[in-house]
Amino acid sequence: MIFAHDTETILRAAARLVNSDSPTSGDLLTERAQLDEFLASEGYSGEILGTVAELTRVRALRPRLRRFWDVPDRDEAAALVNELLVEADARPYLSRHDELDWHLHLTRDDQPLEHRIAAETAMAFLDLIRTDEWARMKTCGATDCADVLVDLSKNRSKRFCDGGCANRMHVTAYRARQRG
Ligand SMILES: [Zn+2]
Ligand SMILES: [Zn+2]
Repeated sequence: MIFAHDTETILRAAARLVNSDSPTSGDLLTERAQLDEFLASEGYSGEILGTVAELTRVRALRPRLRRFWDVPDRDEAAALVNELLVEADARPYLSRHDELDWHLHLTRDDQPLEHRIAAETAMAFLDLIRTDEWARMKTCGATDCADVLVDLSKNRSKRFCDGGCANRMHVTAYRARQRG
């Protein structure tokens, strides 16, 4: 593990959220049920209203998060992180609940869902910046895919998104070899 468990989980969730607004595979977050599935599988807790308005606000967060993959360097990313923390009204505090020992919470549990997602994601990006690991923020290497990924592999060798591109590219390369 390179980063704290929390950080890795949140980075993966952030990439997944951004990729739900995919230039290649379309919008995968149009229904409330799709958001509920995302929240459950990524382990988001706290107050969830379950409304369409909430869905709309989470959808609006996606292009904001996508910008982090589009900035040229970590200096611009740092400015974006600071912006996002203010907007999300982040107020860090320590919490101990359920079976979890003291850990950091960034926003109150009754803050709007999109603020909580934004604050957590900003903190995870912050980890990448302060450890000078921003190069792990990547766009899929497949020529016909613009989805994003956070490369959490030890040797930073991950090139393709989790949307099946790695497999597809291997098959393409294999066929090319067969022909060649
Ligand atoms: Zn907690
Ligand atoms: Zn891809």
